[in-house]
Amino acid sequence: MTTDHDNKAAELRHLIETEGETIEQNTKLNNRRRYEAINEIGDERHEALRTHARSIKEDAIERLPELIEQLRSSVEANGGTVYVAQDEADANRYIEQVADDVDASSLVKSKSMTTEELDLNAHLEDSGVDVFETDLGELVIQVADEEPSHIVGPSLHKSREEIAELFEVEFADEFEEPPQTAEELTQFARDYLAERITEADIGMTGANFMIAESGSIALITNEGNARKVVEETNTHIAVGGVEKIIPTLRDLEPFVELVGRSGTGQPITAYTSILSPPINTPPIDRANTEDDIDADPEREFHLVLIDNGRMDMREDDVLRETLYCVRCSACLNSCANFQHVGGHAFGGETYTGGIATGWEAGVHEQESAAEFNDLCTGCSRCVNQCPVKIDIPWINTAVRDRINRSGDESLTDPIYEGLTPDEEDGGVNLQKRLFGNFGTLAKVGSATAPLSNWLASAGPTRTAMDKLIGVDRRRELPTFQRTTLVDWFDARGGAIERTTAATDREVVLYPDIYTNYIAIERGKAAIRALEALGISVILSEPIESGRAPLSQGMIETARGKASNVHTSLVEHIDAGRDVVVIEPSDLAIFRDEYERLLPEASYERLSEHSYEILEYIYGLLEQEGLDPDTLAGPTETGGDLVAYHSHCQQRTLGLEAHSIAVLERLGYAVETSDVECCGMAGSFGYKSQYYELSMDVGSDLQAQFDEIDADHVVASGTSCTEQIESLIERRPPHVIELVAPQ
Ligand code: SF4
Repeated sequence: MTTDHDNKAAELRHLIETEGETIEQNTKLNNRRRYEAINEIGDERHEALRTHARSIKEDAIERLPELIEQLRSSVEANGGTVYVAQDEADANRYIEQVADDVDASSLVKSKSMTTEELDLNAHLEDSGVDVFETDLGELVIQVADEEPSHIVGPSLHKSREEIAELFEVEFADEFEEPPQTAEELTQFARDYLAERITEADIGMTGANFMIAESGSIALITNEGNARKVVEETNTHIAVGGVEKIIPTLRDLEPFVELVGRSGTGQPITAYTSILSPPINTPPIDRANTEDDIDADPEREFHLVLIDNGRMDMREDDVLRETLYCVRCSACLNSCANFQHVGGHAFGGETYTGGIATGWEAGVHEQESAAEFNDLCTGCSRCVNQCPVKIDIPWINTAVRDRINRSGDESLTDPIYEGLTPDEEDGGVNLQKRLFGNFGTLAKVGSATAPLSNWLASAGPTRTAMDKLIGVDRRRELPTFQRTTLVDWFDARGGAIERTTAATDREVVLYPDIYTNYIAIERGKAAIRALEALGISVILSEPIESGRAPLSQGMIETARGKASNVHTSLVEHIDAGRDVVVIEPSDLAIFRDEYERLLPEASYERLSEHSYEILEYIYGLLEQEGLDPDTLAGPTETGGDLVAYHSHCQQRTLGLEAHSIAVLERLGYAVETSDVECCGMAGSFGYKSQYYELSMDVGSDLQAQFDEIDADHVVASGTSCTEQIESLIERRPPHVIELVAPQ
């Protein structure tokens, strides 16, 4: 029996095999260049630019109706026309009418994702207008008859050899020797397109920004084709989503710096054109050198502003933030899943990557977003890369929640429903429900261990779980411990009386689900390390953080867990204790998503008093001056080279450096992984439809750790630990297990 999971796995496998290598090379190159370009200006300047850019977009979207009218007046004062198209059909009808009015038989276009959204080329071709894409990447896609796989580099998934083959077939009549090198291919495209541009009746551009006060459009590009299509044709149509309006020319400044750096790692793109059409200069007739100025400069300009759901997005508290997007592609290039599978899997009808969930749900249908939304694992690596600070993972989570709620309630077995104490309606599918209720599963698994472990790993059980729920049978399942961390702590007599008075700090250690029921050694190590430093430690109740349900889009369930955690921990905070957390994804939910799940004051109190374990120890050593000799450094026989993989959400919080600093302070040499994510991402790598993608993403980490050949391999996240064990067949302990005294 072939399941939906099998079909999805096959689709992803095919794309990994056919497009994966090229898309990986190109996205990683852009990603690396982005880091370099940001380093060039420094974090402080980058952050200032992002803050400025964000405030401009927030203001513009807030004032959008007023700005649309201001832009209309400015364009009309310049001699142009503005048309606000309500939807795809409306926009296509207007553009076809303009083409008809000027009796156009051909139209040349520069790159525009908004026209892709309208499926404009097909409409124009149907009405008898030949359309020529003049951006090199778009030309490749047009010739290949494919959809763009990347919002900035539409043909980023194609190698030079594939493009050469395409051109050789498509343009066989145009050359004697087919072009092969990148230079030859570019030169051929340039010559071929120059002819089409010269002969065209209409020039069409997109618009990266539209300036309300002057009626100008700004085009931020790396090819000169946009200027040419405007210069060489009498009729210019610009198409842009209404969200691209900014109030003033001055407001363009931060974006000019940010778009190039964020997308392709360039300090500034090759062309930044600010046009205030219609252009007054007449077109140049390059064929007629005797009389090279056309005396009849009848220029027309039509600005087609696209609503197509955007004004509704503006009123939607989840989708509104999507309208701040400047389509730079940083979130695509920094996404480990996107790097491996590209936009033909990680994308909808038009848009690709993590932010595509917001766009697709807003301008198309939620079903389009549902096709790929689960490929966002919430790793959060894109969050700090976005030049307008969009919380892309949250948009994905919130849309996932909506998709869940629109699910088929009949899919949920009433017996299963009774076993899952969550807050969800029946529409959530079984796979999500299982992983979203992992806390309950862990509790039951621990209480019934070792029977539960034996049952879960038995062949027939694994087959049934794979086929019925989609838990991949190739993945080793966690082993539940009968004696939990809390049991062990109580059995030893609870808190140990403080032996030194170097600090009066007290800690309440949060026993997350994994630490309490599965990986209890890291919990014991954390207690040993803190107590060795003279800190009094107690444990809080083992209450789930809500991370597991949140990752499945089960927001109401996560909200309930967040409230329970706050109630449990706030009494300790009131008593002056610091909350210490071992699992980075749980600290991340305390510091990030709880802002959306808890009342503001509760969120602030909890997030301000919570620390990741190595962050806390770093503070004890560096700020409180406690003695590092009480911790464990390298032994003569143990070696000192550590390969360290930091959890993705820990890095987004800026906490990787603390672990490294502690390890180095103790005498270790540390090499860190440079992948964006290990590929496991919580439950993602357990799901049968994603197992192979997860392992493909993980192969980068495997290659890097093989090369380092370290004495110790350590990781901070539970899922990273599971993934690394699968990849290198060696279970990496948590960093705290390396530094805690035995
Ligand atoms: S969401 Fe942010 S990072 Fe992604 S394309 Fe839009 S602006 Fe760029």
